[in-house]
Amino acid sequence: MAKRPHLSLCSFCGKSKSEVAHLIAGPGVFICNECITTCNQILHRQTSIATASHSASAATPPHKKNLPNSLPTPSQIHRELDRYVVGQETAKKILSVAVYNHYKRLLLQPKGITPIQEDTVEIEKSNILLIGPTGSGKTLLARTLAKILDVPFCIADATSLTEAGYVGDDVETILTRLLQVADYDLERAQRGIIYIDEIDKIARKSGDSPSITRDVSGEGVQQALLKIIEGTIANVPPQPGRKHPEKEVIHFDTQNVLFICGGAFIGLDKIVQRRLSRSTLGFRHHHEPTPLSDTIEPSDLAAYGLIPEFIGRLPILATVEPLDQKALIRVLTEPRNALTKQYQQLLALDDVTLQFTPAALETIADLAITKGTGARALRHILEHLMLDIMFHAPDLRTKKRIIITPDLIEATFKNSLTQDKKHSAAA
Ligand code: ADP
Repeated sequence: MAKRPHLSLCSFCGKSKSEVAHLIAGPGVFICNECITTCNQILHRQTSIATASHSASAATPPHKKNLPNSLPTPSQIHRELDRYVVGQETAKKILSVAVYNHYKRLLLQPKGITPIQEDTVEIEKSNILLIGPTGSGKTLLARTLAKILDVPFCIADATSLTEAGYVGDDVETILTRLLQVADYDLERAQRGIIYIDEIDKIARKSGDSPSITRDVSGEGVQQALLKIIEGTIANVPPQPGRKHPEKEVIHFDTQNVLFICGGAFIGLDKIVQRRLSRSTLGFRHHHEPTPLSDTIEPSDLAAYGLIPEFIGRLPILATVEPLDQKALIRVLTEPRNALTKQYQQLLALDDVTLQFTPAALETIADLAITKGTGARALRHILEHLMLDIMFHAPDLRTKKRIIITPDLIEATFKNSLTQDKKHSAAA
């Protein structure tokens, strides 16, 4: 005689409906809430790097709740960067891999387990040095990475930092800023990204004798930054206004904070060239210039004025290129939040269609190049150009179309264009 299936038993643990809170029916099977929890735990355990990397929607295991929700692969990071940053392909590739490895390293360190075990290789922290002209996307790259990974991000200016005991910001203030951005969630802040701008400005000045004139803004700050960049427990003040009777200070562990340092390093190319011409005398291929990032060596950075210990803490090096007219036009029009798109969107709310002719975009890009601040100049130019239009557009009664032409730009910037011409003539 065929045995009748017992319909109200969990097919996994065999418990009856009355023994569990929920029993869910599938076609010919049942599963209870307890077994669902067990299954979830099994899945979470298996959600190691591979799953975390590839499954954008995977639930985050509790011990990794302060890591990026899902760790995108380098190519996914690169694709996301493409949506916001124009060009800089090599830098994007280097950063995508470096950032992926940095957070993968964190995934290998579940809470409570010592990262260094006998048979495991310790993956070193890979802070990044970004070199390239102002306004070419260094900060944007760092900021976008933080956005992609959904980690707290803050920017510090190296020139405002001083070594402890001098007037100015102690390096620990950077950590306070990151904590603030993370709403004082220490765990989250400890996995954030800090961008230190103008790092080249704290280069040791050649010829300075540390014993005679204390190099407060240079070498001293590099020394002060060493520890937090490498990984230390720093003491930072608690959240103002909150009573922390048990805690006078917060112990901020910087071991897993990713530091990206950026600077223009004007003149570094000459140092590199000098070294190359010395070392490859007679063997140089004059017709094939190598990208700067491939040729910069730690000794060049040391010659520039970074102390060797500091260079050692920034093992990943990437360079960004100056933006030419074509790239600036792309900056104006292509990224998700491109400036022209922003103005078009704003005016569309007033029923005004805004268009830029190709020649107008070229004129704006050319004007920006004369300012020498890369893409930074684009915003100022557009703000100035659009002021009158933005002022009057909401008053237009009927649907209107505004077309920006080179003539309009030249009329708006007549003075600055003639001044620029005068300057270049004088130079
Ligand atoms: P840097 O840090 O190299 O001095 P930023 O990243 O701060 O320059 O750039 C200033 C602004 O110029 C950015 O906010 C962005 O709007 C624009 N910009 C610069 N470079 C790029 C780029 N490669 N792609 C898109 N926008 C850029």
